[in-house]
Amino acid sequence: MTELLFPARPQATVAVTGSDKRLSVGRIFCVGRNFAEHAKEMGAEVDREAPFYFMKDSSAIVASGSTIPYPPGTKDFQHEVELVVAIGAPAWGVGVDTALDAVFGYAVGLDMTRRDLQAAAKAKQRPWDFAKNFECSAVITPIVPKAAFTPADQNISLSVNGTVRQQGRLGDLVWSIAELISHLSHHYHLVPGDLIYTGTPAGVGPVAPGDVIVGSVEGLPELRLTIAPPESY
Ligand code: MN
Repeated sequence: MTELLFPARPQATVAVTGSDKRLSVGRIFCVGRNFAEHAKEMGAEVDREAPFYFMKDSSAIVASGSTIPYPPGTKDFQHEVELVVAIGAPAWGVGVDTALDAVFGYAVGLDMTRRDLQAAAKAKQRPWDFAKNFECSAVITPIVPKAAFTPADQNISLSVNGTVRQQGRLGDLVWSIAELISHLSHHYHLVPGDLIYTGTPAGVGPVAPGDVIVGSVEGLPELRLTIAPPESY
């Protein structure tokens, strides 16, 4: 048995509806600009040649229902509600026609973003990591196994303190779930526990301490997140 110098860091896990077992989280792939109206509000265009991604560490996972501190390093902390796909079977070089066989289930997620750091990174042609991949930036509801939910043209929406901010329909995803899994599987060996945040509809915007965010996809558990004041150093 391998002896560790320091204790292994905690493994991120997500609840599964109707089960006592939890999903162990692997990699988190996040799709950029997957709704045309959101690409437009960001001053960008959808790339119809191929989807693109950024990644978050599994340590960024936080459960729906949590209260998180307003993160350091930003004055423009923003919400992005997204459908999350959880992988449940290995996928390597799979076609679009069989890609959905790799799905375990679906959840509602928030790709929380330090938008000012993202804008600065874009301006300097630098990576987005500081804007996207930080503690508590990947919020997720319990996962619904695919037998109980089939993505089609469901409404996806987000409100802050009861006011609707984001609205879209899953039928408007530029790259479908099957296309995303197929594409990713030609670049990575997808394995159970990998998550895909599939992109956000239009209406992204800032939140402040005290705000309560509610994210919804018709047919999935409602996501809820409360923003607390920043931590002191
Ligand atoms: Mn996003």
